[in-house]
Amino acid sequence: MKRTIGSIVGMLLAGMALHSTATLAEPPTPPKSDVLNNFGFPLGFDVSKMDLGADPRQDFHRYAAGKWLDKATLPGDLGNLDAIGLVNKQVDRQVATLLIDAAAASPSAKKGTPLQQVGDLYAAGMDVARLTALGSTPLQPEWDRIAKIDGPKSLAEELARLALLTNHPVFVDVSVMQGLKDPTKYVVAASDPDLALPAREDYLAADLAPVRTAYMQTITDSLVLAGVPAEQAKARAAKVLAIETRIAGKRLTEEQKRDFNATYQTRPYAEIKAALGNMDLDAYFQALGLPTGVDLLVTEVDALKERGAVLAEYPLADIKDYLQWEVLRLMSPYLSPAFVAAQAPLTRALTGQAEMPQREKVVAGSVAHGVGHALGQLYVERYFSAQSRADAEAVLTNVRAELRQRLEQNTWLTAPTKSYALEKFDKIKIVVGYPDQWIDYSAVDVRRDDYYGSSTRLNEFSRRRMLSRLGTPPAPDRFADPDHTLPTIVNAGYSPDMNGIEIPAAILQPPFYDPKADAAVNYCTLGAVIGHELTHSLDSFGRLFDANGALRDWWAPADVAAFDERSKNLIAQADAYEVVPGVHLNGQLSSGENLADLGGVMLGYSALQTHLKANPEDARKIDGFTPQQRCFLSWAQLWAEKARPELLRMHAATDPHPPGLYRMVAPVINHPGFYDAFGIRAGDKMWLEPKDRVSMW
Ligand SMILES: [Zn+2]
Repeated sequence: MKRTIGSIVGMLLAGMALHSTATLAEPPTPPKSDVLNNFGFPLGFDVSKMDLGADPRQDFHRYAAGKWLDKATLPGDLGNLDAIGLVNKQVDRQVATLLIDAAAASPSAKKGTPLQQVGDLYAAGMDVARLTALGSTPLQPEWDRIAKIDGPKSLAEELARLALLTNHPVFVDVSVMQGLKDPTKYVVAASDPDLALPAREDYLAADLAPVRTAYMQTITDSLVLAGVPAEQAKARAAKVLAIETRIAGKRLTEEQKRDFNATYQTRPYAEIKAALGNMDLDAYFQALGLPTGVDLLVTEVDALKERGAVLAEYPLADIKDYLQWEVLRLMSPYLSPAFVAAQAPLTRALTGQAEMPQREKVVAGSVAHGVGHALGQLYVERYFSAQSRADAEAVLTNVRAELRQRLEQNTWLTAPTKSYALEKFDKIKIVVGYPDQWIDYSAVDVRRDDYYGSSTRLNEFSRRRMLSRLGTPPAPDRFADPDHTLPTIVNAGYSPDMNGIEIPAAILQPPFYDPKADAAVNYCTLGAVIGHELTHSLDSFGRLFDANGALRDWWAPADVAAFDERSKNLIAQADAYEVVPGVHLNGQLSSGENLADLGGVMLGYSALQTHLKANPEDARKIDGFTPQQRCFLSWAQLWAEKARPELLRMHAATDPHPPGLYRMVAPVINHPGFYDAFGIRAGDKMWLEPKDRVSMW
């Protein structure tokens, strides 16, 4: 359910989010592209971004956002730029200010408080002179321990230690997660850890050889920096790639991953233990404080078994080389900045970015990874008002009421399904802004003069916190899982396993929510985003989970058939769209997100109509546009995007979210109100035959 671009610096998000994370980067000095000023445009909806010379009936993209698309340019440190990227820049600036202030105040702050921990961790990460002098020496004890591995038991103990040290699975992924079939309990889960390259095709596809070459370069450069002779480093890089390519061949495709019933299964402990014969699974579990012999919830089991085969077939010396690279890769953000710089060839190959993020941005990412809730607390105190929370909740209530009414009037679900859909819908828990309860890191020693040590202690705290949940009642709030979301993340997400939605504080800013904007704009931006997330509770993925978050399909075959019939035109529309020359959108992969966008626009628009009936004084033109026109225009401006072809190519293969240029218009042309609002008729380029339009909720 997680998505990242190869480095733990990027925060990880739930799969049902509004948007996947692109590489985030914030240079503190103004970049050449003037991105910090949004190229002279306001952040929120604005007529100045439109090209009024274009004809909305022929080219709605240009009409809605042509001036912005003309002026916006990508800074070298970004693979793409859209409203989420712009708000990310805004949040980065807010967080940067907060971190600088915290670092100035932390020496006199009480030990263990959010201010002390955030400020000292940031100051430690920014102490480039000290980190450069240390080079890779903080990692040396770990490399020495890996070198001493002499059999299955010491291998297992070292792998457990590395999982704690990095707060990341190393070679095997054993975690404690909420039961899928019984969400009232946590269970022990086993999986194959994500590989360094984000997509399995990065290892396997012939045309992606440049990505692999860049990865080898990054491995080689990093190992050389850590003191490995160049020839040896090159040979090790080839070995790493060979091992990972073998494993990638056994990993699930993106489409397969969405089929939870097929890909998550409970298997006996003994089966996994046998598959990983050259690693002592008992010793691994004991080292992590987990009970041995319990049934395991497994996914990516074929790839995990392939790891077992790798352990059996490769000489131990090769496995040690591999682990030394893995720990170096995962710990590079905590070493000298040269190690982050060594990732440049890979980042460039994956995203097209020419520049690596500035140090300030890398450290801010590590602070969020280490003490995300302490940072979130400081952020909310400073930047999030009670008024924003109340306003968002008001929009949310109205959009929610709209969908409930539509469900009551639904004509294509069978009666039992419809009745359960309403029950599930009423149980959706929505958290706006920040968690009900903050994580307390005060027991961890965070020191201004010890970046590596402070970070590894925080990693161990977070890993143990996750593992120690076994036997406790699950928290009903995704914010309780800081690897999934944080108040400082610009996104929103529906979590089917919790039947809950989180709307982090950071997204409640223009253009997603603008306290100064008219109702039409807020309903078709924030309202549509909330509608998008609400429909995820009912779509082909959400329906696999019941009202309590248990993996239990509550649809009848007739409901599935009706749903598939209604979505098939949307899949065909997406399949026909060429993302970059020769690469088409994957209609099946993106259908959940496309349906959610369609639902979001429908619900935002309808909630707006209801609002206008109750508040007729708002049903007036502003800047010469009716509320209905402003609704579609503000949605389209929200998704206007500049993107590099490399990133578009990668996302087309792996990301269920279609590119922004597609999202701007795809839901809109399925909406009857769009044709009325702009007088679009048969024969116009924006015209879609009524028989080809899709309506789900
Ligand atoms: Zn979504």
